[in-house]
Amino acid sequence: MTDTLPLSIRGLTHRYPTGPAIAGIDFDVSAGEFVALLGPSGTGKTTLLRAVAGLLCPTGGEVVIRGQIVCSAGVELVPTEKRRIGLVFQEYALFPHMSVRQNIAFGLATPDPDRVQMLIERVGLEDHAERLPSRLSGGEQQRAALARALAPKPTFLLLDEPFANMDAALRDSLGQELHRLVEEEGISALLVTHDQHSALALADRVVVLEPSLQGGVVAQVGDPTSIYEQPVSRRVAQLTGPCHFIKGTANGSSAETAVGPLPLIAPRHGDVTLAVRPHQVRFEPTEDGNLTIAARHFTGRAYHLV
Ligand code: ADP
Ligand code: MG
Repeated sequence: MTDTLPLSIRGLTHRYPTGPAIAGIDFDVSAGEFVALLGPSGTGKTTLLRAVAGLLCPTGGEVVIRGQIVCSAGVELVPTEKRRIGLVFQEYALFPHMSVRQNIAFGLATPDPDRVQMLIERVGLEDHAERLPSRLSGGEQQRAALARALAPKPTFLLLDEPFANMDAALRDSLGQELHRLVEEEGISALLVTHDQHSALALADRVVVLEPSLQGGVVAQVGDPTSIYEQPVSRRVAQLTGPCHFIKGTANGSSAETAVGPLPLIAPRHGDVTLAVRPHQVRFEPTEDGNLTIAARHFTGRAYHLV
């Protein structure tokens, strides 16, 4: 059923004159799905998003939108304006000389004041609709940018680090709003971020990218829980949240370690390194009663013990 998918990325590769950016990326976005592309800086996330949006023509592979190949092996077949994509970038990119209402109305082929008003209300900017962007906070500007991207009813939304430059509280509330809006509009979304917190909290599925000599490659694809609890590599474990690594000797379903036997998620034998998440650790009195805490850091919601 590939041809009904909103988006399909097949073997996508891009090389700039100065070097490679992405290498053989494959993944799909299903109807109504919210996918996060998570990877450290420089793994080609923006390059991939620009290729999907039609802002650059990737040197290899294909982008397929709603069953139509829009670029293939370095040839652009469908231009940006025909791709029906909503775009939201890190730097809000609103027109500075237009009010919030004018900005949101700008992308509509035929005027639709009711839809513009409905979007203004949905993003909570009723009291700011006639203001210029320079008179809005960063979070308000990003809400206006979101409403503007949604106005022409795109089939899907591409977001490149939309919460960068925001504090954690604003990022969380805007993230939840974004999720709700995308659901209400019944569209799919591809969120690009280097922030594991946003990716895990918002996405139905996460595509983790990691660097390689050829550029960014897919390290793992899965729902947030499986990515967090069953990372395929040490690198994915580190990229997706706090993690502690403990060496041990596996004997089937568990491994002997310095802190006693630990269960394994898959049978193994021999030398292993176990990834342990903070929530998987509980302190209990041992038989000999010896446990030394070397340091204790208060992190706000929990203590970090070393
Ligand atoms: P990310 O968004 O994950 O940080 P980018 O897609 O911006 O990654 O960049 C991927 C790689 O491509 C980096 O090595 C970057 O320096 C390089 N790159 C990005 N844009 C350009 C460009 N316009 N020209 C040359 N190299 C670029
Ligand atoms: Mg980027």
